[in-house]
Amino acid sequence: MLVVDKLNAWYDRSHVVQDVGFEVRAGEIVTLMGRNGAGKTTTLRSIMGLVGRRAGSVRFDGRELLGEPTPTRYHHGLAYVPEERRIVPGLSVRENLQLGLIAGARRAEMARMVDEIAETFPRLKERLDQEGTSMSGGEQQMLAIARAMMAQPKMILLDEPSEGIMPVLVDEMFELFARMKARGTTLLLVEQNVERALRVSDRAYILDQGRVVHEGRGADLLADAQIQERYCAV
Ligand code: ATP
Repeated sequence: MLVVDKLNAWYDRSHVVQDVGFEVRAGEIVTLMGRNGAGKTTTLRSIMGLVGRRAGSVRFDGRELLGEPTPTRYHHGLAYVPEERRIVPGLSVRENLQLGLIAGARRAEMARMVDEIAETFPRLKERLDQEGTSMSGGEQQMLAIARAMMAQPKMILLDEPSEGIMPVLVDEMFELFARMKARGTTLLLVEQNVERALRVSDRAYILDQGRVVHEGRGADLLADAQIQERYCAV
């Protein structure tokens, strides 16, 4: 579904992503792991067209996207939830969700989608009329993910969704990923929470200094303490 090949990205002179290649097949959960600064966020941002200088190939459902403007990706069914959640202050949970629908949706369709998404996110269902930014960090993260799902994307890129969230919500978040997968949504995660991420992942790639240095099945990497210690200790 997503095939990244010889992806390179630069911030000014620094060459942060170097010949990165990986793929995510339809229906999979795939995780990118690696230490702070390994280039994981920049890889996601490059896929989304958000890094000024980039080269290589990013194919999504057979279409080359790397040179396309960012919104094109949303129209083809690729969504992105960045680390900073960008919940709009002053708007309720419901209104924030409505922002996730592609412009032009009818009122009835909007209401139906909010109801449907709220079923998947019980915490949000109870808080639909509360102001979005008044919720806890973890709940706001759920809202950011739910908002991305409003447009019914085929695939979502998630940057450190469990970062800074209280443990009970981290558990809920990973259960949610399994439910999203069961609904047919494909996920690419960047996660520091290595053990939990590997438990839900079909496969994972390890980045180090801007390059892919290892790939494997989630279960195999979970059992490989050496690899985890070498590349993933923060
Ligand atoms: P983290 O978990 O800390 O976000 P990461 O693996 O996601 O790590 P990136 O955020 O992609 O890593 O950063 C890769 C490298 O690029 C780092 O050396 C970082 O300092 C540098 N970098 C990131 N963003 C910028 C920027 N906007 N301008 C210049 N350099 C940047």
